[in-house]
Amino acid sequence: MELKIQNVTMTYPSGKQALKGLNLELKSPSLIGLLGPNGAGKSTLMKLLVTALLPTGGCILADGKPLARAERTLKANLGYLPQDFGLFDELSVTQFLDYMAALKGLPNPKAAIQEVIAAVNLEEKAKAKIRTLSGGQRQRVGIAQALLGDPSLLIFDEPTVGLDPEERIHFRNLFSRTAQNRLVLLSTHIIEDVQSVCDQIVVIHRGQILFTGTPEELIQSAAGHVGAFYAQEAAQERGLHITARVNTGKGVRCRAVADVLPAFAQVEEPTLEDAYLYLISREAAR
Ligand code: ADP
Ligand code: MG
Repeated sequence: MELKIQNVTMTYPSGKQALKGLNLELKSPSLIGLLGPNGAGKSTLMKLLVTALLPTGGCILADGKPLARAERTLKANLGYLPQDFGLFDELSVTQFLDYMAALKGLPNPKAAIQEVIAAVNLEEKAKAKIRTLSGGQRQRVGIAQALLGDPSLLIFDEPTVGLDPEERIHFRNLFSRTAQNRLVLLSTHIIEDVQSVCDQIVVIHRGQILFTGTPEELIQSAAGHVGAFYAQEAAQERGLHITARVNTGKGVRCRAVADVLPAFAQVEEPTLEDAYLYLISREAAR
């Protein structure tokens, strides 16, 4: 599976330009993290990729064919978890998945449902009504329906929102296993979600791509721009993008990202979060 996004623009009827001339190539197998602040255009891009929206400019090719013409083939090979996915509260997990399997036209729903329930570790809740599930368990049902039919393209829009740390780790491992032979795109604004599992990162901001590459490359891009210092007076923090402040006995220990670090700052190894914040802060300063 290969997706080519060519000069794609999306302007909503309200006049809001959510995506501005995007160019991007995605190829399986890969687990791609789509990172960006709220309102960056992540959900819009995902809706275009699942043909829930049509771009107002440019085109998207799936395996070389325009998406508009390959729509049916694409949908048969697609699992999608929208950001605001509604579940049917009065159905049991199995009943809901059976309904989704019917919508997808799966030939052997029973086996497929068992398989996805096992994949998200929900065996003991298979007969439970959805309204009795915790937030994390509901998200797992959402992920399970996306996995139905073994699609080769999976798109998860903020799948880890509202999950506790343990659940997030469980999902990360699940995504990583899923991506072994597929193309998986997941959006998030939580850096740790992409840090440990994604092999590619796409950073999007105000409808434009700021970065594509590996997590290591993103980290490298901030080398020399991350510093730490003890702030004795507030003036020292001026003009810096402070990413951490800890009150200690010796003063306020600050971590900051900046184009040019002040002389009093000690240069630190960037983390992925530093690098992301540096990228976004530079763009915001424009
Ligand atoms: P993200 O998922 O990164 O938070 P979205 O893709 O949801 O961002 O939104 C990108 C921009 O487009 C935002 O400014 C948002 O307000 C706007 N937007 C999203 N959906 C619509 C819509 N249906 N009509 C008008 N503007 C929209
Ligand atoms: Mg969104």
